[in-house]
Amino acid sequence: MTVIKTFLNQITQQLVNSLSTEEATLEVRRFMQHVLKVDHAWLIAHANDVLTLEQMAAVEALLQRRISGEPMAYILGRREFYGLDLKTTKATLIPRPDTETLVEATLAKIPADRVCLVLDLGTGTGAIALAIASQRPHAQVTAVDCSAEALQVATENSESLKLSHVKFIKSHWFSEFAQSSHAKFDVIVSNPPYIREGDIHLSQGDLRFEPISALASGVDGLDDIRIIINQAPQHLNINAWLMLEHGYNQASDVAQLLRDAGFMQITHALDLAGIQRVTLGCWQSSS
Ligand code: GLN
Repeated sequence: MTVIKTFLNQITQQLVNSLSTEEATLEVRRFMQHVLKVDHAWLIAHANDVLTLEQMAAVEALLQRRISGEPMAYILGRREFYGLDLKTTKATLIPRPDTETLVEATLAKIPADRVCLVLDLGTGTGAIALAIASQRPHAQVTAVDCSAEALQVATENSESLKLSHVKFIKSHWFSEFAQSSHAKFDVIVSNPPYIREGDIHLSQGDLRFEPISALASGVDGLDDIRIIINQAPQHLNINAWLMLEHGYNQASDVAQLLRDAGFMQITHALDLAGIQRVTLGCWQSSS
């Protein structure tokens, strides 16, 4: 007979080769919670409960997936972002803490007390759009993705979070907004793919399992950012903002692209590591 406490200690050993003891303990505990459908407090209170063979086998199966490198967010099917619990599948990029920088910078441009038309390009799980909608009830948020599977996940997230006023549209960047009659936006935000094709990071860690279309973008990583910057002006109101997340070394390139396209008031926002991770510009022309 094996009790929860003993089993947790045993299997944690299998992860300590690849993770710190602290991380391994946390991940194993989360597998156990997932299988037993309980929270951490329950686990502590029931540390001496006996596990069934099926329960142990189910935790072992999750552990083996982790040992083979699969990200936690895909194994558990969930990831927390900006205080929201999001369904996350292999069709979507895993929301990252760095992207909370983009959300913060974007919220600073959205008034709390008035209607504001916001567009999120390449929404994936819906993380950015839903975080904005949760903080700005007056904002009318539209989110697009070119992946029908990702949109399905984003829609489920909006429903489970009761943020179903966010509108999801299948579109490759602005393709569905081609008609000039379409409403223009006050804020366009995006965390597009921005890693250089062939970059070593694509073959490491969680990125190995994520959709390449959400990660890589041409030889310098800027192909999609160029498209977005060049097409955004047709879809922005005057004094509207374009907010872009980008790679750790792309801030000056993105600022230059924004300047070249006629954007003004170009600034950067720093991620948790103090790196310029977000660049924004204001559209002030009338064309
Ligand atoms: N920030 C991610 C990473 O470098 C990449 C996400 C993206 O390309 N938008 O892991």
